[in-house]
Amino acid sequence: MKGKCAIVTGSTSGIGLAIATALAESGVNVMLNGLGDAQEIESTRAALEGASGVKIRYHGADMTKPDEIADLVDATEKELGGVDIVVNNAGIQHTSPIESFPADRWDAVIAINLTAVFHLTRLALPKMRARGWGRVVNIASVHGLVGSVHKAAYVAAKHGVVGLTKVVALECAEENITVNAICPGWVRTTLVEKQIDALARANGQSKDQAAVALLSEKQPSKKFVEASALGALTVYLCSDAAAAVTGMSLPVDGGWTAR
Ligand code: NAD
Repeated sequence: MKGKCAIVTGSTSGIGLAIATALAESGVNVMLNGLGDAQEIESTRAALEGASGVKIRYHGADMTKPDEIADLVDATEKELGGVDIVVNNAGIQHTSPIESFPADRWDAVIAINLTAVFHLTRLALPKMRARGWGRVVNIASVHGLVGSVHKAAYVAAKHGVVGLTKVVALECAEENITVNAICPGWVRTTLVEKQIDALARANGQSKDQAAVALLSEKQPSKKFVEASALGALTVYLCSDAAAAVTGMSLPVDGGWTAR
């Protein structure tokens, strides 16, 4: 994988940053993307470049905007030399019963978690075909496989990502391009921290108690999944050893979807 070039969306924090780090440690040049404070992003970028010795660049495309996604692809090709690997990871959550689910939150969740995957994949595939090799790794969720209350937009978007993964895998099946989804259970990132805070407030619990309650309800291991484990799985899916693994949605969920 040394010398390959990757875009990892939503890699300024959480799972995306762990995946970008794992790819960089495997010799892959990485285009970071995501929102956040410019100085913090630059220090993250510089630290990762210093530690890994590969090229790390940053592009601030808002993944709800197709023209900015196109610019992200063009900039990656210019600055890194190609687009061999795409990790569609940027995502947001909103929880609410369906009858009070705000329409603008529905639109935002679908735009970032699903429509952005469509745009980046369709724009990056020609670059992969031009170099005769490619990998698409979509960070879906256990919520791409099963439902939970109050997550209408998120569950719809993630089921959409699982379906899109299968279609694109079939369209690329005879090429050296694989397309897979990873379906994590609970990982302790900002996205989940907000849900722990909400549970703590609703039940009058401490954050630690709320975290245990959150895990106990869904994840039989009662442990958070480590973001680094998702980085390691992404590296495997991008390796030649995984050349025949395509169209799959792989749960990493402490047993959540086994019940
Ligand atoms: P996070 O909030 O730490 O990271 C989300 C990333 O997406 C950030 O870098 C953020 O800047 C970026 N982002 C948000 N809106 C964006 C936009 N409009 N344009 C560009 N970037 C944008 O959350 P996370 O938990 O690391 O989530 C990463 C992915 O993993 C998401 O797709 C999420 O659905 C998925 N996931 C998370 C969990 C979990 O338990 N944390 C479980 C399953 C799936």
